[in-house]
Amino acid sequence: MTNLQQAFSSENFRQDAHNLVDLLADYLEASHNQTLRSVIPYQEPDKALSFWQADYEQGKTDINDFFKKTIEKSTHLHHPRYMGHQVTPPLPITAVAGMLTNLLNNGMAVYEMGLVSNPLERILSELLAKRIGFDKNASGLLTSGGTLANLTALLAARAAKTDVWEDGNTTKLAVMVSEEAHYCIDRAARIMGMGSEGIIKVPTNDKLQIRTDFLEKYYQEATEKGFKVICIVGSACSTSTGSYDNLEEIAAFAQKYQLWFHADGAHGGAVVFSEKYKHKVKGLDQADSVVIDWHKMLMTPALATALIFKRDEDAFKTFQQKAQYLWANQHSKDWFNSGKRTFECTKLMMSVKIYSILKAHGEQIFGENVDYLYDLGKTFAAMVKSRPNFELAVEPESNIVCFRLNNHFSKDLNELNSAIRKQLLEDGKFYIVQTSLKENIYLRVSLMNPLTTETDLNALLDEVENIGTQIS
Ligand SMILES: *Cc1c(COP(=O)(O)O)cnc(C)c1O
Repeated sequence: MTNLQQAFSSENFRQDAHNLVDLLADYLEASHNQTLRSVIPYQEPDKALSFWQADYEQGKTDINDFFKKTIEKSTHLHHPRYMGHQVTPPLPITAVAGMLTNLLNNGMAVYEMGLVSNPLERILSELLAKRIGFDKNASGLLTSGGTLANLTALLAARAAKTDVWEDGNTTKLAVMVSEEAHYCIDRAARIMGMGSEGIIKVPTNDKLQIRTDFLEKYYQEATEKGFKVICIVGSACSTSTGSYDNLEEIAAFAQKYQLWFHADGAHGGAVVFSEKYKHKVKGLDQADSVVIDWHKMLMTPALATALIFKRDEDAFKTFQQKAQYLWANQHSKDWFNSGKRTFECTKLMMSVKIYSILKAHGEQIFGENVDYLYDLGKTFAAMVKSRPNFELAVEPESNIVCFRLNNHFSKDLNELNSAIRKQLLEDGKFYIVQTSLKENIYLRVSLMNPLTTETDLNALLDEVENIGTQIS
């Protein structure tokens, strides 16, 4: 056998894959029963680099050994004390589906390269559209992450409101957004040539929601400066604090000035699956476009993001481009050629992973996850409030909770809480992050793991308090 033949050997694959499944199942078990001690085996970047450089110098070795090291040295999202960034511990079935799609590697851009994934993508988009409350004119797509999905939505807004795609920039365009919006909106607007003035950041209230009473003023100011406002973005919810903007009021404002209304529900749009929490996105059905990350609250591995349009034709206006070798008919709106509507040409078969959840566990599992985690956010907030040395930044509306130790140990509170977070990171028994809200540093948890319990949260607060006492 040549080296290449051996590399493709089905028997080797069978063996390697079985070994890996055993390693991963052990990892899951050790995470769940918490015999796995570290949630995050943190190392300084240079130290980690040296480790892997030494590993690389060894050349070809046992692949199992590499897999083992990768598991050991990664951040462990399945550990119930993982409460860091808003990335889901994916359902194990999706990892199995991931092996399937990685090996099949159908590239999706044209129907012939996505015979399964294109129809599944359509079915999943229709499911989301229905949950959002759109009618049958809606359509959607999957793309590589919320950042790219938000850029795509803003491009669709621009295509609907201007002729920039053909004519280039002739007027100064602007979008309106809350100052608490995810930074990718600002980045998207700048990529689109709007500059720093073209991104109009509207202040937030004490719950960190966009001040809808300011919309008129900011809109008029921009118009007077010669900007054409094309779009207003609502956060559902915001990243730092998980605050939901008032989508109904944003929708009414968008309607008044014929603006595109985009809802960034990357994290919190998932409540459309929850009877209990879907009221948070009242007005979402009035949006022109909605982004929801499957890899945040919906238990799918990254990246998998839905972008849903209220009107199917808007999706096709975004990227009007000729690609003779890909599409025989440039002008038809064929749903089955993914690349006509997405930024990506070759694209991952994301729909297969999501669909595997529906097949293995049923749709209701999405709502169950949202309910459990949002409930847990409330429980955690109550625990914080019941302890005299702690305070909440804001009453949580989701599974994102910002809090801090506020007793008057000698230190400045910002320094104290930053030092606590640093110590937690180095100890690695919990993984949480921090955020800065109106100049104040808060500890921040995103409760992403449905196996996290009150016991874990109590242990976290004890630990924060202990570290606080030690370092003061
Ligand atoms: C996470 C997030 C994004 C970015 O999504 P990615 O999938 O990480 O690219 C955008 N907006 C909001 C509100 C988010 O929470």
